[in-house]
Amino acid sequence: MYPQSPVHESKISNQPLFRQTTRLAPSPTGALHLGNAFAFVINWALARKLGWHIALRIEDLDTPRVKPGVIDQTIATLEWLGLDWDSGPMTQIDRIERYQQAMETLAKGSFVYPCALTRSQIEQAASAPHTPRPDDPEHHETRFDPALRPESIPNAFDDAGTNWRFITNPAPTSFRDTHMGPQVHDIYATVGDFVVWTKRNAPSYQLAVVVDDSDTQVTQIVRGNDLLDSAARQLMLYRALGIANEPTYTHLPLIRGPDGRRLAKRHGDTRIDTYAQSGTSPEKILGLLACWCKIIPPRAPISIHEFKDRFSLDTLPTDDITFTPEDDAWLRS
Ligand code: GLU
Repeated sequence: MYPQSPVHESKISNQPLFRQTTRLAPSPTGALHLGNAFAFVINWALARKLGWHIALRIEDLDTPRVKPGVIDQTIATLEWLGLDWDSGPMTQIDRIERYQQAMETLAKGSFVYPCALTRSQIEQAASAPHTPRPDDPEHHETRFDPALRPESIPNAFDDAGTNWRFITNPAPTSFRDTHMGPQVHDIYATVGDFVVWTKRNAPSYQLAVVVDDSDTQVTQIVRGNDLLDSAARQLMLYRALGIANEPTYTHLPLIRGPDGRRLAKRHGDTRIDTYAQSGTSPEKILGLLACWCKIIPPRAPISIHEFKDRFSLDTLPTDDITFTPEDDAWLRS
């Protein structure tokens, strides 16, 4: 019932013969929980099965303030799960100059403009209904109405102390996700002009990811499906920056609590470190992740190497997965 998957991952086997590169890109926002671990372990297993280079990148711009020690703790948690990588860690904080250069390129092409409007000004102008966020339908993203653009678009990036937005066009972005299938995202209609540079004098997540992935020649991006529509935004940036080599995307189901909301503190303490401190073995955590991937029956521990050998995107659900109180009780038993 739970066969070993073939050496070649059938859904991704048509790749060209040059070396593929992926990245593990944790945000050091606090300890990794089961949902993060699920995505990282799958990313690692695919890479090790298919011979991809793995780069570790710490997304330390994602949060306004990264507490000392959190980066080391994040790395230690990945290692505790049995993951390894071939290069890095690279941190974003040292790369501000590269992001500024990308902004200069975007400004030269008149793809971006400064925008000092406040959230409430933007909300007042929003004509379209707010778009529910895919990871948490109770939260909404306010569309930035392109009617709010300034009359003249500059062609130089001359003020790094304000927000800058990317000009979206009324044309959907299409791509094929390895796991989720064909995608069509109309960012103009749902999100509107999105922020690429923030008034904190730092790139937004969307811009930093594109510059980093392109600079480190990442060809394979594997992550949670809450970032599916970010992939569309990121592809728009690849094209505006004139970067020809676009990555292949593999978006994974999200882990949700019994209430259907994305796994978070409200569902209890699901941090990997907390389980480790209370005596749960990595094999048990991996056993739960493997059961979610439908490669072993429930309630069985598994080693990281066995996880890698058995993992297949063919059995991985596309629907999101529910973490139950019974799962938690088994991990703690
Ligand atoms: N830093 C993000 C996270 O921890 C991942 C972003 C990405 O993979 O593009 O969820």
